[in-house]
Formats: sequence, C-alpha cells, structure tokens
Amino acid sequence: MVNDRDPTAFLLEEYNALVKKELDWKLRVLQGPSTTRCVVDGKKVIMLCSNNYLGLANHPKLKEAAVQAVKSHGAGSGSVRPIAGNMDIHIELERRLAKFKKCAASLVFQSGYSVNSGLIPQLADVGDLIISDELNHGSIIDGVRLSHAQRAVYKHCDMDDLEKVLDETEKQSPAPRRILITTDGVFSMDGDIAPVDKIAKLAKDHGAMVFVDDAHGEGVLGDGGRGIVSHFKLGRNDVHVEMGTFSKAFGVVGGHISGSRALINFALNRSRTWLLTGSHPPAVAAACIAAIDILENEPEHVQNLWKNTDYFRKEIRRIGFDTGKSQTPIIPVMVGKSADAKRLSARLFESGVFALPIVHPMVAENQARIRTIMNAALTREDLDEALGAFESAGKALSLI
Ligand SMILES: *Cc1c(COP(=O)(O)O)cnc(C)c1O
Repeated sequence: MVNDRDPTAFLLEEYNALVKKELDWKLRVLQGPSTTRCVVDGKKVIMLCSNNYLGLANHPKLKEAAVQAVKSHGAGSGSVRPIAGNMDIHIELERRLAKFKKCAASLVFQSGYSVNSGLIPQLADVGDLIISDELNHGSIIDGVRLSHAQRAVYKHCDMDDLEKVLDETEKQSPAPRRILITTDGVFSMDGDIAPVDKIAKLAKDHGAMVFVDDAHGEGVLGDGGRGIVSHFKLGRNDVHVEMGTFSKAFGVVGGHISGSRALINFALNRSRTWLLTGSHPPAVAAACIAAIDILENEPEHVQNLWKNTDYFRKEIRRIGFDTGKSQTPIIPVMVGKSADAKRLSARLFESGVFALPIVHPMVAENQARIRTIMNAALTREDLDEALGAFESAGKALSLI
C-alpha cells in the first residue's frame, strides 16, 4: 500500500499559520559591521537594538587580535576541548576571565545558550528542586526542562514569593537533595535588575545554590563592567555560578561561567554542551581576550554607555514616553498595543532609526514596546536624531 500523504506538509501549514498571525520572523540584513551608524536592508540607520553595548564588535583591537590568531593558530581548532581541541589560547582566555571576574576559575562554552541548557540540568536533577524567576531567559527555561528536578517558579523579582516557595520546601518529605535558584541578572525585555543581594540572603538561609545569568550585566554593571556580583558587592559564597556571554558587551561570541575551581571541574566533566561540541576557533578566543583587555584598561566605554543611557532615558521620558521598569541600558519604550508598536518601529526605520518592536507572545498582550538598547559609541548627535524620530513618529501615531 502506498501512503501518498506528504509527511512534511506540516512545515508549510504551520509556517503559514505563523505568517497569518504575524508571528514569523522577518529577517533584516545588516550590510557590513555592527556599528552605531550602519546599513540595514540597504538603508542607513542609527542602530538602537544591538547588544553590542560597548561598541567592541567592530573594535580595531579585537579585529587585529582575531587576525593574528588566525595566523598563529589557524582557522579552526580541529576538535572538541576534551580530545584535541584544547588550545593554549582557550586556557589563556579562561585565565584572563577568572582574573577579571575575581574568581578562582572560569570556563568558556560555545555560547551562553549552551551553558544554560547544558549545565543547569547537571546542577540539579532527580530529587532536587530548581526555583526560577517567571521572566527568566528562554535558555534557562530550556535548561530547566532538560533536568529531572522538581520545578517551582516565583513571581518576577518578588522576594516574598521566593521565600514562600523556599518555606514550602522545608515542609516537603523527603526534602529536596539540592536547591538551585536561577535568575537573570538584568531582564532582557524590561531592563530591570534582579535583587540578587536579597536572593543570595534567602538562599543562604535555606542552603540553596544561586545561579545568575549576567548576559546583560557584564560590561554594563559593577566595577569596570565586572557584572552584577560586583554591582551588589557580593562574594563567591553568595553567588555560586556567575554565567555570562561574550556575545553581548564583549562583542564576540561564547558563553562562560565563573566561580570555584570545584564548579569548573564539575561543569567541564558533566556538561554535554561543553564535552560534545567543537571548541571555538582561535580567532574567537583571541578577540575575547582583547575585549577583556579593553574592559580592564579603558574605563571610558562603560562610562559612556551610562552617560548615553541616562541621557536617552531622561529625554525619551520628557517627550512623553514611558520606559517601564528600566534601570539599565535596556530601555523599553512602552507603547501598549502590538499593532501600534509595529507601526512605530516601521516609522522609525523610515526615518533612519533601527529599533525592533517586542510584542505578544514575547511580552503580555497590552505591554508591546519598542526595545531600545544603548551603546557607548552613540554620540549626542545620534541620540538627538533618534529622539527626534521618536517624537515625530509618536505624535503622528497619537502615542504621545
Ligand atoms: C543572550 C542571552 C543568553 C544567550 O547567550 P548567547 O551567548 O548569545 O547564547 C542567555 N541568557 C540571557 C539572559 C541572554 O540575554
């Protein structure tokens, strides 16, 4: 018997359903480097939605380091780290990162996503409990899903709710073997900062581990951009796993963790997303080392980032927009309806400002927004031009 049903028919059907609901990604093309004035889909725009906070993605020192590493170490590493792909340049990067983070040791993964999806299920599994902020990044959610641990979610940054969850676990029999609390440091949709000091205190009271995803805090918060642990002046006994990425403020790519030597030895022996994947090309490791050099020696980048953040947030509010809970260079410009956010983004693009709308289901139905992200390399002129575009588009659409 022949079954002439096309087993792939769902591909087009499900894609078409997304298109109909306008939930499909329409990919923009960046022509040339990621800079504050760049070309997107053939149009010259001011970039307001990249995570390249410090402008390092196209920094001459990073580019030169990458070129030199290709010459000295080749284009690829040839293997996974545990077999033949563990190069001196990878070790040097981890040494430099641990020093920068003021930790005993650091470990570099392919990406932040692979840290969260690969390490979290090893830190907590059968008989354990993972407690997660409801607005945590999708990569944490995937890590939690890969674990066999029991799960609990607390209301966004709500310490009473976290405490309630922890108190309830005390009554459980048998009690969880291990408890892991996970949170984003800076939340990527709202730009608010998790109360990691209070989380660490509650964790200590209940014997729990703390895992902080500092993807948007590194290069941004704390002494010289050292991140959220430094921001709250916490120690290594408060936050046990500090996770981050080289793909945002550091301007390159790659995930990493910092903490105790025991953590690093455990993580590299247990995380399948570390063991089973080829190591970074030498150029990546070299460019990341150059980024750390810049953070250690050129404090002006982090200072400029905050100068721009304070200015833009003050001015966009003066124009009449609401910036929600933003405390960081992630500045959501709240709009409300999804359709309005899309119209505003389209008008901004027409007037040479690139900032994407964030709409349902990424945020609640009536909470659509344009998410702007500041960059140290933006000039006052860039910001004023962008603010002017927001003002005229906002007025034209009766949003302000
Ligand atoms: C971007 C991001 C990640 C993923 O990092 P990559 O290195 O780009 O994979 C993880 N967590 C948060 C909060 C992020 O914003």
